[in-house]
Amino acid sequence: MLDLILDSLRVISLPMKVNFRGINHREVALFQGPQGWAEFSPFLEYSDEESARWLACSIEAATQVPPKLYRSSVGVNATMPALNGESEITQILAGFPGCTTVKIKVGTNEKQDLERIATVRKLNPRSKIRIDVNGLWSVDQAAKFLELCGEIEYVEQPCATVAELRELKSRVDVKIVGDEILRKSANLFEIDLNGAIDILMLKVQPLGGIKNAHALAAHHKIPVIVSSALESAVGINYGLTLAASFEEMSYDCGLGTGSLLAKNVAEIPIVDGKMQIQRFEPNFDGLETSANRFDWWKNRIMRTAALLG
Ligand SMILES: [Mg+2]
Repeated sequence: MLDLILDSLRVISLPMKVNFRGINHREVALFQGPQGWAEFSPFLEYSDEESARWLACSIEAATQVPPKLYRSSVGVNATMPALNGESEITQILAGFPGCTTVKIKVGTNEKQDLERIATVRKLNPRSKIRIDVNGLWSVDQAAKFLELCGEIEYVEQPCATVAELRELKSRVDVKIVGDEILRKSANLFEIDLNGAIDILMLKVQPLGGIKNAHALAAHHKIPVIVSSALESAVGINYGLTLAASFEEMSYDCGLGTGSLLAKNVAEIPIVDGKMQIQRFEPNFDGLETSANRFDWWKNRIMRTAALLG
């Protein structure tokens, strides 16, 4: 398996339009198997242990026959990074044509967060708003913010722990989505999410691939939604495949994040708020990293593959 990965390995650095989760370049490793190109792209600071599930996913993508799909395109949300200013927000929203749901990053500054939501509402009065807190709030902070921010579709990972999410759920009516609570847990099947969340966020790489994501959805028995890990078009296409492989998908998915990249290995356009699952040849022109970065990823892959056994 390792030979297959290393034979076709390319390490790509994608420039971003705006700073998102503290980065302005997204580095990803891509390789080719019998099923086509696959992506391995845990963020640089992730440990080998945490990266193991990401590698299992990319091996699945490269080698396993894709699942049965229930649709050829997937509805997606606009993703609004933590930035303010009407012109910046207008520019970001323009990258998501036809999207009627906007996911807004909040959690670090209450005043700016509320302003960001108000600006999106002003520019897009009919869109549904969802917010993603990445676990930054206490229960009290979350309850207060949810009272101030007006009607929203849901709040994603408002607090960090299961106990806090449960307490918040008993205090507010807003739907709660669990993201980090699942994908950052050491044992995906042991964690008890009962009474803590209403919707389960599935990200295909962090959860170890499509088969594992389905097993998790069946195990936890909570409605699901699919989002990206800010992948290149190759990884996004696999996320779209996961989203389309659920018979029931009632929510717009967070898979339009390619719009936050200034360059990509392929374009999967958003048309009328939807993205189509594709077959494409990635184009690496001008995107490959230095030999140093290639070696760094090669070593990371060898160490992580050793953990998979
Ligand atoms: Mg999230």
